[in-house]
Amino acid sequence: MAAPERLALDLGAPPEVPEDAVAAATALLRGGWLHRYGETLGDASDASLLEAEFAALVGARYCVGVNSCGSAMFLALLGSGVRPGDRVLMNGFTLSPVPGAIVHAGAEPVIVEVTPDLVIDLDDLARKAAATGARHLLLSHMRGHIADMDRLMALCDGLGLAVIEDCAHTMGARWAGRPTGRFGRAGCFSLQSYKHVNAGEGGLIVTDDEDLAARAILASGSYMLYGQHRARPSEEAFARWKDLTPNFSLRLSNLAAALARPQLRLLAERARVWSDRHARLAALLGAIPGIRLPHRPQQEEHVQSSIQFAVPDLGEEAFHRFLGGCRARGVFLKWFGGAAAEGYTSTPRHWHYLPDARTPPRTASVLAQLCDMRIPLSLPAEACEAIAHIVAEELEAARRP
Ligand SMILES: *Cc1c(COP(=O)(O)O)cnc(C)c1O
Repeated sequence: MAAPERLALDLGAPPEVPEDAVAAATALLRGGWLHRYGETLGDASDASLLEAEFAALVGARYCVGVNSCGSAMFLALLGSGVRPGDRVLMNGFTLSPVPGAIVHAGAEPVIVEVTPDLVIDLDDLARKAAATGARHLLLSHMRGHIADMDRLMALCDGLGLAVIEDCAHTMGARWAGRPTGRFGRAGCFSLQSYKHVNAGEGGLIVTDDEDLAARAILASGSYMLYGQHRARPSEEAFARWKDLTPNFSLRLSNLAAALARPQLRLLAERARVWSDRHARLAALLGAIPGIRLPHRPQQEEHVQSSIQFAVPDLGEEAFHRFLGGCRARGVFLKWFGGAAAEGYTSTPRHWHYLPDARTPPRTASVLAQLCDMRIPLSLPAEACEAIAHIVAEELEAARRP
């Protein structure tokens, strides 16, 4: 089959907002109850119901909705006791809201190496935990790649490191049967349009830690209306923190919650479609000479809304020709080896606000070869072959001097 000249669909398309979500949002707009709290209201706001439903879905005691996953990570760090000047460990393959959340808490990111399989390097983690005295790891399951969570948690428990999980790419994903976000002290999820549930903006913190939950609810800006949260901890937990916690006004809007709730019910079906498209693309791209796909352990049940592959042995100029050739034919690849931050892609050496803005060396060589492509839910199964054909042809063309 000859490759098409150009892919006839938009790889950037967000997940569709279902009709029942549109109806729920429209009903809210008609009534005007867009803010989740009110002096005459109970605990049945869309925001409160979403929190209760999400807590039940992942098996967490508490869930706190906020305005973004970046805010969720900031509040989880704060609620876990991170203080200004602390060091917080994070893996070097992630997105800019992760170091942003650490800096927001007044702390300093310490970048840990990742392996060629795109997960945190546990030896480097142990080394840097010891060298820096950090008490927290903000672990990003970046692009859906889940580290060996049994080994990681055993290591962190031994080192006295509290783990906060960034699950922006792993809603619905599991390690050895357990949902991501349920290994560490807290898990943070995103409701931003390009993740698994499209509410425009929004974030969710899940935890079993009642002090962390109470602090996050108070700091998110609940005023003294925290009783309007269903998935909330005891009154005693609030009593310990309510007069000590500033209000940062990072609330979840009822409108976003109304859009998100019906989509939670679609997660399993979305996961099926994403896994199918990812498996097809992985088989096709993995068969192209010169392309390497990361190894995925068998304990990992991922929900890949994107695919990553390495192109070793391609010089920088050839890389630009390859990316440009694919782009001209509608196959938008992101590249983590670029000199400057671009679009949704950046690496530690782009974050010049850090005291040490460098990508650690092994991570730098992994990212220099790494390409990334979104998998929209609307991608037809048949289009996977066309994409692989375009990638193969453009790679061959880029290699010709
Ligand atoms: C999108 C994303 C976030 C942040 O989510 P927002 O809701 O946009 O703040 C965090 N981590 C990763 C890896 C992401 O891709």
